[in-house]
Amino acid sequence: MVTMPNNQGLFDLSFQYSLECNLSCSFCMYEGGPDKTEVLNLIDLLTFINTIDFALINSVGLYGGEPTLHLDAYNRIAAMLPTTTPIWMISNGAWSKDPDRLVDLIRWCRAIGLRRLIVSGNPEQVKHQDARALHVLSEECPEAVTLKEPDGSMLMMGRLAHRWDGVCSGKCSWKKSDPTRIAVTPPGDIMFQTCDGSYPVIGNISQPFSQIAEICRDFNHKTCSGLPRAFGETK
Ligand code: SF4
Repeated sequence: MVTMPNNQGLFDLSFQYSLECNLSCSFCMYEGGPDKTEVLNLIDLLTFINTIDFALINSVGLYGGEPTLHLDAYNRIAAMLPTTTPIWMISNGAWSKDPDRLVDLIRWCRAIGLRRLIVSGNPEQVKHQDARALHVLSEECPEAVTLKEPDGSMLMMGRLAHRWDGVCSGKCSWKKSDPTRIAVTPPGDIMFQTCDGSYPVIGNISQPFSQIAEICRDFNHKTCSGLPRAFGETK
């Protein structure tokens, strides 16, 4: 479990510019991989972002896929946000094996004022990381860099979806004090991210944020049964 930067808003809002990834983890809930080419339309995204009341936003997350493959695009997304909104990013850390990419990433984090860089710690990802480089980085920047522990339990989504029983425990509705987590996917769909890893699509960036917030408020009082469709399913 990772604690997000806290702006005390009601929503943690994340952006997935692309699901492209330099790894293909067996458990990936987005089925990220090198063959993913769809990207988020940044003009449509700007229109959506302009409808957001950022007093409602606790933090903004950047992920993919592997976000460091698209730093220019995430730079443009960060430029659309108020400078007071805390931004964090989650990455697979494979860049730690390449000193040039590591230096470029540190410069990029500084330039956009990234509040926290979270490096995934599943064994499938760790074997692509330079453990020493990451530990030096986290010791030098303890406030800004979080190295995730290996996950004890895998969320049975994505490539492991056939092993998931499709039943949501309703954890989200027990923890109303936590921000509601939603994410914008490459087609512009908006996912409601439950604690169990079931991520139904509840809207699209063609709708104003007030409408999305309304739908989320309603969902927060339900379990996942009967939700419209899961991420990746067709309408
Ligand atoms: S590194 Fe992350 S995005 Fe990439 S395949 Fe693995 S879990 Fe998916």
